[in-house]
Amino acid sequence: AQEAYSELRDKPAVTRDGVRVGLQMNAGLMADLPSLTPSGAEGVGLYRTELAFLVRRTVPKRGELMALYKRILDAAGGKPVTFRTLDIGSDKVLPYMKRPDEPNPALGWRAIRVGLDRPGVMRMQLQALLRAAEGRPMNIMFPFVAQFDEFRAARDMVFREIEHEQRLGHKVPARLSIGAMLETPSLAFAPDQFFRMADFISIGGNDLKQFFFAADRENELVRRRYDTLNVSFLSFIEQIAARCDRLGTPVSFCGEDAGRPVEALALVTMGMRNLSMRPASIGPVKRMLRSVDLSETRRVINAARASGDQSVRPALMAWLREIGA
Ligand code: PEP
Ligand code: MG
Repeated sequence: AQEAYSELRDKPAVTRDGVRVGLQMNAGLMADLPSLTPSGAEGVGLYRTELAFLVRRTVPKRGELMALYKRILDAAGGKPVTFRTLDIGSDKVLPYMKRPDEPNPALGWRAIRVGLDRPGVMRMQLQALLRAAEGRPMNIMFPFVAQFDEFRAARDMVFREIEHEQRLGHKVPARLSIGAMLETPSLAFAPDQFFRMADFISIGGNDLKQFFFAADRENELVRRRYDTLNVSFLSFIEQIAARCDRLGTPVSFCGEDAGRPVEALALVTMGMRNLSMRPASIGPVKRMLRSVDLSETRRVINAARASGDQSVRPALMAWLREIGA
């Protein structure tokens, strides 16, 4: 019998053969936080800080940001929140920030690239985050890291701000985790030292998929052309999961695909053990995971791969229908 989503709320996302998967929610506005408890999310795996910047006409002040981040942490009531620093550029343009005209904004001056080249706003944001913690644990991640040095430089900025806060006599977070978003294929092949330095890695599947297939996620002509269940993409995710596992780096997946039950199942089969998605997807994804045996899923996916299928979707869907999941 299929369990209703409400009955599932307080149950773990665990497969029939006992594989436990962490499910968190994505958020971007204070208004998203009330979904935390009813959705059953274990925390906020991706908090998109740029949304608060996008809905305004002027740059927010540090005090305003600090108050906002503090309210978010308060509303999360002790569940972890992972704040992603400003991810602007490409599809997200701030009306009050002068930007160069770029021929290819998705491949352009965006996210951490802007933060490192013009550190003023990033420093202010880091100060606001550190102060908002008021001694509580804090998780910060940097978007769109393409090579090790970018992560190291951004992480050093956090440490400089910590020292600055301490000099001012301010409380600093009890525990600080600094992670990177893996959104460009290059980062998957970074040196081992990168994976050891990162406290965690979060795969931004929307961007990663766009760059993996060289297919613009904003372009209706190509955005649905390549399946997430394409064998090449799944193998790539599998390799990233294995590498993170070998090097001891916690990894999660936070693109839109994490919230689609069949895609989520395939990602878990490839080794992902933490997913972050919009709150309404948590119930459906949990139900899917609880209804399958992961070793069986792996057998079905591997058979489809071995037979030369381009996507494992047809085989996976046929099997899910067969078992009534
Ligand atoms: C992603 O790229 O998958 C992601 C989570 O970030 P965004 O969609 O905000 O680019
Ligand atoms: Mg992204």
